[in-house]
Amino acid sequence: MKIVDARVVLTSPGRNFVTLKVETDEGVTGLGDATLNGRELAVVGYLRDHVVPLLLGTDPYRIEDTWQALYRGAYWRRGPVTMAAIAAVDVALWDIKAKVAGLPLYQLLGGASRERVRTYGHASGRDIPELFDSIRARLAEGYPAIRVQTGVPGLERVYGVHHGATPDGARPVVEDWDTGAYLRSLPGVFDAVRQEFGPELTLLHDAHHRLTPIQAARLGKDLEPYDLFWLEDCTPAENQDGLRLVRRHTTTPLAIGEVFNTVFDYQTLVGEQLIDYVRSAVTHFGGVSPLRKLFDFAAQHQIKSAIHGPEDISPVGMAAAIHLDLAIHNFGIQEYAGHTPLTHEVFPHAYTFTDGYLHPGEAPGLGIELDEELASAHPYEPAYLPINRLQDGTIHDW
Ligand SMILES: [Mg+2]
Repeated sequence: MKIVDARVVLTSPGRNFVTLKVETDEGVTGLGDATLNGRELAVVGYLRDHVVPLLLGTDPYRIEDTWQALYRGAYWRRGPVTMAAIAAVDVALWDIKAKVAGLPLYQLLGGASRERVRTYGHASGRDIPELFDSIRARLAEGYPAIRVQTGVPGLERVYGVHHGATPDGARPVVEDWDTGAYLRSLPGVFDAVRQEFGPELTLLHDAHHRLTPIQAARLGKDLEPYDLFWLEDCTPAENQDGLRLVRRHTTTPLAIGEVFNTVFDYQTLVGEQLIDYVRSAVTHFGGVSPLRKLFDFAAQHQIKSAIHGPEDISPVGMAAAIHLDLAIHNFGIQEYAGHTPLTHEVFPHAYTFTDGYLHPGEAPGLGIELDEELASAHPYEPAYLPINRLQDGTIHDW
């Protein structure tokens, strides 16, 4: 079998998605997700101009060899653009191999280790009553675990609390931030949530890289009475050594890694068991092949998976994640923000979301298709993630 064509499809059924479609001389096709929110066109160019020409004529069964050739052959290793592009190829080739085998991908990854995949959803509100409404809505949808984000007194916009974008999407929305106000208010929010919803509801929180290690240590300690499932991205973990300080001070479990793209970003964090969950997505970590290796590394240190699953992971990337979730032993939880009805139409899929749990379905391959005609009716729209400024105007981590 040979690869005879590979196309990049950029579509925006509500938000932008970059999809690679690989075609073989035997008519079997594979899909991969290369969506990089806010920098989509860079990945499109990387794939079209530098990856697709290298794929033509090659054997789609040689997944590992192709991965290594793209990673090592570029000379310029790592980085989100490169790794999203390689991920799309890796996932498309797994899709092809599993389709030819006539098996859902999870069977090629070792078969099911569980019956279904536990998820968590997002609840947010500008104040406590709005937050409670949002939590009730997620509970009504069946979510067994809920990430809680809330407004901070004195701030207009806070991460995880929905607001409008700029009218044309051409420039990022500016949000504001005050670490002191956040650290003072958040324990009270969790106290109120526990009083309203009881001790058993599984709760998570995302600090979105906004704290220094000593601030993160304080927050983890202050949140201990509220029994969080995890505190996510408490500090930018590019400084992996900083997690030693956080860990020394708190027993609140820690989750990190959604912006990481290779195992090298995790060497200290996993090797010294400084975190409890690894957050990388199939889409941004170079595909199923390297993410499986990361999970095996993490398993040696009793660390579990928690694949990043916001709306900007396309259904193709989500499908790949769900197959991995079902197959690996050290599965922790899957983030699932869902997609718009139109997005589900553009990407018809076999995976299901029922009572807060996902299942990849039994269709051969990833179990996902791309309606190219519908996709082309919804062309790319410029859009950026927000930026974040302190009250004196200084740029802060978003
Ligand atoms: Mg996050």
